[in-house]
Amino acid sequence: MSGLKLFDADAIDAKDEGPVIFRIADFAHLRRPAPVMEPTEDDEALGRARILHANRRCPYCKHPVVQPVELNNGRYSRNRSRLPGSASVVGFQCDGCYQEWPA
Ligand SMILES: [Zn+2]
Repeated sequence: MSGLKLFDADAIDAKDEGPVIFRIADFAHLRRPAPVMEPTEDDEALGRARILHANRRCPYCKHPVVQPVELNNGRYSRNRSRLPGSASVVGFQCDGCYQEWPA
């Protein structure tokens, strides 16, 4: 609940003693709705970075070097080479104990 207090001009004319406090809920319909944001390529990169950070160590042996297991759905550049980081990460493989786990 907000502590915002507003004065009503009509209340001053009526010689009321205190300020009139309006409820925020009474004016909620006047608020503009938040714009709907479509996911961008930056959001995909941020999600990928979060997944890589959350799986940066092997959960079985705590080895610090793990490799992402990616699908073959990555994008290609103009010269037909695969763009790094554009494929979907489905899991990880540990370089120490070779265990795999899903992302
Ligand atoms: Zn491991």
